[in-house]
Amino acid sequence: MIANRSYDCVVIGAGPGGCTAASIVAEQGHSTLLIERDKMPRFHVGESLMPEAYWIFERLGILSEMDKVGFTRKHGVQFVSKADKETQPFIFAEHDDRPCSLSWHVQRDKFDQLLYDTAFNRGANCSDETRVLDVDIRKKGPHRLTLQTADGKEQEIVAKVIIDSSGQSSMIANRLELKEYYPDLKKAAIWAYFDNGIRAGGGNPEVTCILNTESKDAWFWYIPLGNGTVSVGLVGDNDFLLKRGGSPQKTFEEEIKNCPGIKRRLIDATIVEGGRYHVAKEFSYTCKEQAGDGWVLVGDAGGFIDPIYSSGVYLALKSGVMAGEAVAEGLFADNLSPKQLGKWTREYNEGVKWIRKLVRAFYTKEFSFGGFMKSHPQHAQNLTNLLIGRVFEGKPGEIFEDMDPWIEKAKNGESMEVAAK
Ligand SMILES: Cc1cc2nc3c(=O)[nH]c(=O)nc-3n(C[C@H](O)[C@H](O)[C@H](O)COP(=O)(O)OP(=O)(O)OC[C@H]3O[C@@H](n4cnc5c(N)ncnc54)[C@H](O)[C@@H]3O)c2cc1C
Repeated sequence: MIANRSYDCVVIGAGPGGCTAASIVAEQGHSTLLIERDKMPRFHVGESLMPEAYWIFERLGILSEMDKVGFTRKHGVQFVSKADKETQPFIFAEHDDRPCSLSWHVQRDKFDQLLYDTAFNRGANCSDETRVLDVDIRKKGPHRLTLQTADGKEQEIVAKVIIDSSGQSSMIANRLELKEYYPDLKKAAIWAYFDNGIRAGGGNPEVTCILNTESKDAWFWYIPLGNGTVSVGLVGDNDFLLKRGGSPQKTFEEEIKNCPGIKRRLIDATIVEGGRYHVAKEFSYTCKEQAGDGWVLVGDAGGFIDPIYSSGVYLALKSGVMAGEAVAEGLFADNLSPKQLGKWTREYNEGVKWIRKLVRAFYTKEFSFGGFMKSHPQHAQNLTNLLIGRVFEGKPGEIFEDMDPWIEKAKNGESMEVAAK
């Protein structure tokens, strides 16, 4: 239900980014409308959370609620090589034994609903089954939005600020032609959910598993969830996965044959959701600008790297807090300039840069975590910092002083053993 025709702040999209930003702006007393086109709770991909999300949940006051839902606790990340070598898992608590090291594998419908309720409890007017049809960005605000509510009726509202957190729909970035795709990260994903997939068991910690296929042309994620299912996804170049002929199911099954670690984990498993395979394509991009007069982009609406390190939700939460604070402050000061609303983007982009660099390392065929760590064990803490998302403090880029030359050597034809020396 939309209570008013005019708001200080309208937030488009009730994913982690939008719900967080709406909570932050609303709790400071600004009239805030959070709009979601789907009926909540709604399905979404992105179940493995980076541990640094802990601090956002603390900021939002929902740590105990996170515990109550019954999500699987994520203790670390494990990489499995193309030769099916299971590397030693990175157990986050071994590097930092504070509670923030124990993360979560979430079912997104439940997780996003919790965040949606949080925005409501902080004072936001929340309206699901409401689609933003059009945004009219005006230099000297307020901006106009045309909405379609659940009954099919159209309605116009005005907002001093729009926070666009519409995910990959990127409403404003598409309107203003701000989106730039990374040609080298033109990936796609096919994923499904299974009952009876192998879980850690025997008191062993659950981790997110990343498994390379034998050809290293693709990789699988394996994420045990709290409802007993496992989320299993295949990621590879867009053309490799989606333009080779045959259905997504056929491609998925073919690549399982090339990945003994997944084959083993799914030996007794059965697919759920009536055998449904989900597909996402070409999802890595950035935006030329992330803020303008009276608007700002949050989460995927402003850029997305790649799912390999499960950074998307954390970055949506983090940018939601940073943008929400800039918007709340700007509304108090009557300053809705791009400089004010985007004041956080420099620090944010600086942190994201290191995750993107580690993504590119992963996709360099000659790179292997096992090989690099064997030759540079002194970087264990640095690598763990990147994997948990601790990229906004300290010296997150330090590891690349050794990793860049190591990769170059490997690329120049030196064997992994030589490069590892
Ligand atoms: C294949 C794949 C695997 C991934 N795996 C992981 C993972 O394991 N861990 C992780 O952290 N991240 C993962 N991600 C990334 C993660 O899904 C996203 O980064 C995260 O959901 C972004 O949150 P958000 O709030 O920015 O957007 P979203 O969660 O996408 O929310 C955007 C919302 O906006 C709504 N919306 C869109 N248009 C409109 C409109 N016109 N009107 C009203 N509402 C609208 C949508 O319905 C949606 O609910 C993965 C992504 C992909 C593609």
